[in-house]
Amino acid sequence: MKENIGIVGAGICGLSAALALSRHGNEITIYERDLPPPPGNAEKAFFDWPRKGAAQFRHPHAFLGVMCNLLQKKYPSLIEKLWDAGARKISFEDMVPLELRDQYQQEPDDEEMWLLMCRRATMESVLRRHVEEIDNVNILSRHDIVGPTAVLDEKGVRLNGLEVRPNRGPVEVREHDIIVDASGRNSKFPIWFSDLGASISVEEEDAEIVYYTRHYKLNAGEDEPSRTGKDRSAGDLGYIKYGVFPGDNGHFAIILCLPNHETDLREAVKNPALFDKICRSIPGLYPWLEIGKSSPTTSSFGFGNIKAVWRHFVNKSTPVALNYFAIGDAAVRTNPLYGRGCSTGIVHAHLLEEVLHKISNPKERALAFDRVTEEELRPIYQASLQEDRLGKKRASAIFQGKKIDEQRGIKQWLRASFGDALASASRENMHVFRGVMKSFNLMEKPGYFLKDNRIKRTILRYMLRGRKKNSSARYQRGPSRLEMISIVKDEGNKAA
Ligand SMILES: Cc1cc2nc3c(=O)[nH]c(=O)nc-3n(C[C@H](O)[C@H](O)[C@H](O)COP(=O)(O)OP(=O)(O)OC[C@H]3O[C@@H](n4cnc5c(N)ncnc54)[C@H](O)[C@@H]3O)c2cc1C
Repeated sequence: MKENIGIVGAGICGLSAALALSRHGNEITIYERDLPPPPGNAEKAFFDWPRKGAAQFRHPHAFLGVMCNLLQKKYPSLIEKLWDAGARKISFEDMVPLELRDQYQQEPDDEEMWLLMCRRATMESVLRRHVEEIDNVNILSRHDIVGPTAVLDEKGVRLNGLEVRPNRGPVEVREHDIIVDASGRNSKFPIWFSDLGASISVEEEDAEIVYYTRHYKLNAGEDEPSRTGKDRSAGDLGYIKYGVFPGDNGHFAIILCLPNHETDLREAVKNPALFDKICRSIPGLYPWLEIGKSSPTTSSFGFGNIKAVWRHFVNKSTPVALNYFAIGDAAVRTNPLYGRGCSTGIVHAHLLEEVLHKISNPKERALAFDRVTEEELRPIYQASLQEDRLGKKRASAIFQGKKIDEQRGIKQWLRASFGDALASASRENMHVFRGVMKSFNLMEKPGYFLKDNRIKRTILRYMLRGRKKNSSARYQRGPSRLEMISIVKDEGNKAA
């Protein structure tokens, strides 16, 4: 049965939902409060597209293997358009660190593990234009959704449309069989449901970090430095995490991620000159910013209030509202440091496609979508949460000047010792590195590779050689926390 579907939000997940759901002949309308991308190329989309509705729009985005592979298999012509816009492919072989190159032999799964490198503006503008060309999809820009319309009776809440404010004018009602909420992290549906007497329970945990970005472009004639050398272009110094995101058309971005309590450094990264100073003091970043290599294209800018959030739309086997499906950040959100949001959101949109295609009963649909969301996304959410908790513990130990290796209790010691052995083994053994990369790229459930006996034996061997030898693999080379604070203070004093 063809359905009339209203999608709220033309971000990555709303557009992906339109891609997936339009394949079954449904009539689709996407409502987006922001303007469409300006005419022109990737530069125009990045520099000139006002994108207030997606505050993270100008932060760099990694697009993981699971997402790239899904798009390639289902929508090859979209991938072609991304190449035309300047996006690049990084194959698994390209990601193999220099020290593991001589162990590398191609395995069948390797081909599916690749990354698409481009700015989010490039991805989103190309995806949007691709969706605009689909006959049964209509994208309405500057259309703000101000609430759902619903029937309330003994069966509960059933959505049957949306209240829309086009171009800041009077509100109109549009009828729909199904509403897809792809309105992102600040979705108003939980408030609207509460007004209708239906409540959504929420799991929420603060990652207690801030995330700072600055964009650069390689100078004419300059090549990208290696990302896989001894000093990696992404890593952790314990009190600061950093990473280079290579983009399209010679652009790249650097992110610095700090715990909330690092007040001196948090102040410093707001200042673009100090942002660069910090980056140049980190060996893995220096080659990208050495004199003459590149030039900044933006100031440094941040993103705070970073939380893992899971919203429950089914309460004790009863859906909160029928004909309503939340996908992407409106439903599940993880720390952007792991670069998973767009990938899980696209997977989520395609899980919705399967459910709607196979099941027609509204209640069964809601329950089935809740079930597959739990099955497919919960392990990823849980793994992200665990990484956040570990990160907070370590950052707090470093801040208090405690030895991070001092763990209370045998269980914690074993866990930390296992983590160190894994980090060390993945640097020196191709099969362990491949397993870690499968998890990273969400090609399988996080940590699934640890079931492999050969990998287990290797990690055990590393554990037996003692923690001291392994623990150095966790952190990259760079200034200590106190050295970094004095670097930024010295620079600040000079400027004063
Ligand atoms: C700093 C940062 C860095 C990140 N880095 C990565 C990364 O490296 N890789 C990755 O995969 N993910 C990353 N993410 C996460 C990623 O940005 C999100 O998971 C993803 O954008 C979610 O897509 P979405 O479509 O659900 O929401 P959004 O992209 O936020 O889109 C929501 C859309 O809905 C529109 N909208 C909202 N309300 C209304 C309304 N009432 N009416 C009409 N329109 C409305 C908005 O204008 C917007 O266009 C990062 C996030 C942050 C904060």
